[in-house]
Amino acid sequence: MSRPFIPSANIARLKESATLAVAAKARTLKAAGVPIIDLGAGEPDFDTPAFIRHAAAAAVEAGATRYTATEGIPALREAIAADANRLLAAGAEPFTASQVIVSNGSKQSLFNACMACFGPGDEVLVPTPSWTSYYEMLELARATAVPVMGDPQNSLKVTATMLEESATPRTRGVMLNSPCNPTGAVYTREELEEILALAAKHAWWVLSDEIYLRIAYDEPAISVLQLAPARDRLILINGVAKAYAMTGWRIGWAIAPLAVTKAMIAVQSHTTSNPAAVSQYAALAALTNVEAADAAVDSMVEAFLRRRNAVLDALGDARALALHPAGAFYLYIDVSSFGGDDPGARFSEALLDQHQVAVVPGSAFLTPNWIRASYATADHIAIEGMQRIARLLSTVR
Ligand code: PLP
Repeated sequence: MSRPFIPSANIARLKESATLAVAAKARTLKAAGVPIIDLGAGEPDFDTPAFIRHAAAAAVEAGATRYTATEGIPALREAIAADANRLLAAGAEPFTASQVIVSNGSKQSLFNACMACFGPGDEVLVPTPSWTSYYEMLELARATAVPVMGDPQNSLKVTATMLEESATPRTRGVMLNSPCNPTGAVYTREELEEILALAAKHAWWVLSDEIYLRIAYDEPAISVLQLAPARDRLILINGVAKAYAMTGWRIGWAIAPLAVTKAMIAVQSHTTSNPAAVSQYAALAALTNVEAADAAVDSMVEAFLRRRNAVLDALGDARALALHPAGAFYLYIDVSSFGGDDPGARFSEALLDQHQVAVVPGSAFLTPNWIRASYATADHIAIEGMQRIARLLSTVR
């Protein structure tokens, strides 16, 4: 007789990644021949730029097939530090390569940072809605994620005051993500300055996830590196996945005070060791061929901007229900008119069943009145998907 599996205390409260779950369901339907419009995935539809692919192929031929140092090859760590140093305010002390750890995607960097800085009894403020994995990573670190609900009148962003109201003596840190997944909101310089000042006052860790930094439309997004007066409690997270269309290569990084970097390297050394050698060389090409990389990123951001405007238009009257996305490639839409306990889930299910469009229910981001639709897909597909969303919305408005 087989015995039931009882999950360990480590994962007892862990939830499957809701964004990946939607993608999986859409894939199953597609495999069964159903023509699904997939607005669920948070993944650019572009190919990795050719100069990066060629550099990776050359690296493999040259022998990049073995383990590297856990923390990444020195040339890539140098390039990452140099990339970050370009953002620093004049006179700020530059980062050194020794402060950089290269990981299997920024996701692993975030996990390493949570494991290194937080533990049982620690509370961490999570502006909400936020990317679904923050809450679960903090759970894995046995810390407590404290959602701080954003203001719908301000693109669901939080203010320093709202964070302070949710803080307790056990608060140890705050997660920042601008431009934001799932809302596309971008924090202003002033908003970030106030949050950083509050964090400095309380000696909180600031984990700034800047994976969408280069994908901003109305004006350039501000990095905390341009502002942070002190960096002794700052962990910067970034990677190549979104800006360079390199999701599958799995390269991200964290830059932190040296002691924290060493702790994160220890975590990574006992879990995954180094990220794939070939991918590190691909990322190195992306960061060091600045002219070619800028041209590639600019043309992709231009396409995202064109799609953003087109999908907002495609919503028609329902446009008033969407937040204005100033960055990233998501549209966050209020579907509370669908009613029930979880309007976003009801809407997403009906949308998939009746209109063959996959989106992510807002409950994945602790905001059940909303849905997230990604427009990181071909223009005509994104537009058709948005029109179907508008059609379903019009049945209840
Ligand atoms: N951070 C945010 C806010 C994201 O949306 C994602 C991916 O969707 C990641 C991190 C993970 O990116 P990576 O592919 O670098 O692990």
